[in-house]
Amino acid sequence: MLAAVLYGKEHLQLEQVPVPALGPGDLLVRVRAALTCGTDLKVFRRGYHARMIVPPAVFGHEFAGDVVAAGEGVTRFQPGQRVVAANSAPCLHCFYCLRGRVNLCEDLLFNNGAYAEFIKVPARIVERNTYEIPAHLKYEDAALAEPLACVVKGLEDTGVEAGDTVAVIGVGPIGSMFVRLAKLRGAQVIAVGRKRAKLEHTLHLGADRVVATEETPDPVAAVRALTGGRGADIVIEAVGQPQTWTWPMEMLRRGGVVNFFGGPPSGTRIEIDTDLLHYSEITCKASFHHTPRAFREALDTIESGGVTAKDFVQAEEPLGSLSKVLFRLMEGSGPLKTAIIP
Ligand SMILES: [Zn+2]
Ligand SMILES: [Zn+2]
Repeated sequence: MLAAVLYGKEHLQLEQVPVPALGPGDLLVRVRAALTCGTDLKVFRRGYHARMIVPPAVFGHEFAGDVVAAGEGVTRFQPGQRVVAANSAPCLHCFYCLRGRVNLCEDLLFNNGAYAEFIKVPARIVERNTYEIPAHLKYEDAALAEPLACVVKGLEDTGVEAGDTVAVIGVGPIGSMFVRLAKLRGAQVIAVGRKRAKLEHTLHLGADRVVATEETPDPVAAVRALTGGRGADIVIEAVGQPQTWTWPMEMLRRGGVVNFFGGPPSGTRIEIDTDLLHYSEITCKASFHHTPRAFREALDTIESGGVTAKDFVQAEEPLGSLSKVLFRLMEGSGPLKTAIIP
């Protein structure tokens, strides 16, 4: 089969590799759509991912497709079924799993290799985090369940309620999904991003107000002004840069909650105003990855039309164009997400 193999920093090659062999409980899926993602871009730019991938390796993790073969003992799925599978599944018996923090599992099993004609879904993921795609959804819609699951969990961790004012910093695919989902939860949403042109899209997704940092020298003051001087109830950081990590504390009202969702490069340190943290009783949260429950909820949200691929997946390309697509994303131009059709 044809697959994109990552060799290191900004280096991938399209190659013929063997179709993965199945063990008991595994599924073989013909990939019909694999979506580009900020994490893939990070992996491509850095050449590795500490927790997810060591090159040379097949990569890509947001996908949907058709079951073509099932390993011994699989009863829930048959060849011909359209499925979406998450890129991980927890062990369910370690310290963290037993405490319900399954995304922090000590033995979280990751699966990569969606930029290929076929992908093997390992037994544990088949059992705990694979779903049939509802008939009316396209593959692209279903494949959005993975990134959306991270956002579902992020909002849940943050405790967003109807009527809250939520400022979202960052309008990439993840920030845009936060805007959409916060709106669906009944929040008033302020989207903060660099370029006016990109922010226009968030207005369509449900942002009530936008702050373009290319025009506004002080985004903190802008958010405070939009909230009557008090500050936002909740701020989501979805950029992952040291500078934007310093903004939320000052954008929040007293008793507000920040979710540091975007992960900066390892080794990054930021300074915080301890007075602000203490006397304003700021709650700092951070959310990593997703859980099977969040994945299911994300798929339900997609099934009911709350989130659809046409708002986030703005281009389609063949597998052969993957390098080109990733380089374009690195320049910060191009569509939010691209569906790679292997
Ligand atoms: Zn992703
Ligand atoms: Zn575990």
